[in-house]
Amino acid sequence: MIKTAIKTKAYAANGSGQELKPFEIQRREPGVNDVLIDIKFCGICHSDLHQVRNEWGNSSFPMVPGHEIAGIVAKTGDHVTRFKSGDRVGVGCMVDSCKECNSCKDGLEQYCEKRMVLTYNDIELDGKTPTYGGYSERITVHERFVVRIPDSLPLDKAAPLLCAGITTYSPLMHWQAGPGKFVAVVGLGGLGHMAVKLANAMGAKVTAISRSASKKTDALAMGAKEYLATADSSAIEKAKESFDLIINTVSSAADMNMYLGMLKRDGVMVLVGAPEEALPVHPFSLIPKRKSLAGSTIGGIRETQEMLDFCGKHKIGADIELISIDKINEAYERLSKSDVRYRFVIDIASLK
Ligand code: NAP
Ligand code: ZN
Repeated sequence: MIKTAIKTKAYAANGSGQELKPFEIQRREPGVNDVLIDIKFCGICHSDLHQVRNEWGNSSFPMVPGHEIAGIVAKTGDHVTRFKSGDRVGVGCMVDSCKECNSCKDGLEQYCEKRMVLTYNDIELDGKTPTYGGYSERITVHERFVVRIPDSLPLDKAAPLLCAGITTYSPLMHWQAGPGKFVAVVGLGGLGHMAVKLANAMGAKVTAISRSASKKTDALAMGAKEYLATADSSAIEKAKESFDLIINTVSSAADMNMYLGMLKRDGVMVLVGAPEEALPVHPFSLIPKRKSLAGSTIGGIRETQEMLDFCGKHKIGADIELISIDKINEAYERLSKSDVRYRFVIDIASLK
């Protein structure tokens, strides 16, 4: 068991689907390679909701969610070279990995061949110590899994970049979104609104796809050039075979064949949304025009830093609703109904 020492206030769910309540955890004193971070803000990702509700079937409780962490370095271990106290930093979805396999060596820790250690709802590499996330006052993390937040970005609007930002930046880069590419983003929530902003900044022509017309003005302001409401069947017909790349962020079961119909020949639809249900795909949604269906998860640490620097340069932050921690259960209810514009962020000062 890792030695724990620093009493830390947090919010936790004690069982599947239960409300989050005040809870006390212990953080370890920083080891030689560790950074102790005072958390200032933490975003609320739909993955937090899936896991608190045990929708992926792998939840363990008590659970302190939160993997969109922005804060200030409080203390560093003796061998830490990249950070000093007072630095503005972030932590995303992972806090460790084997650090030795080919994926880790390639900077793709999220695809670690042994396992990455998730920021919460996981066990440290010692096989015993549970991990607890960012709905808490502070966190101790190996410096390799800490990234720097550019001065040009406010910490509250930067917090969602640590998951929503990197999860969409990584596939946009991998599948080469850029000038001349027609990119669609499905679902205008936390991930989707970041995907629109990022793809637009990369130079792609972006279409935002939502269920209704209600987010149109916002999407165009984020950089979308076109907007498609799937409630309008004639708009779906018009969009047939028009995109090179679709970033699909939907969080519950939806008809994937409908979206695949909008891909051009050789187009790719990347699933980043992770509904609990299987998503049936008809072979003829893929075969006739040599289309691909792919998946992607978060991004490596090197790429996360690259994404933050890109956002710093282009002044891209999330559109947020800042809440105090006592509003967390209300925020979960609203998130489950897609009623957020576009990311809830917890002001951790309200926890103290
Ligand atoms: P979110 O803010 O709730 O946004 C999801 C959006 O999906 C909603 O705003 C809604 O957009 C759309 N949607 C929901 N249900 C739908 C349905 N039945 N049909 C069509 N559209 C639907 O969630 P988020 O935080 O962006 O996360 C999105 C998903 O990505 C979640 O499943 C999450 O777990 C997953 N995720 C995956 C990774 C990864 O590494 N791959 C990382 C983070 C999150 P409209 O209202 O615009 O229609
Ligand atoms: Zn997330």
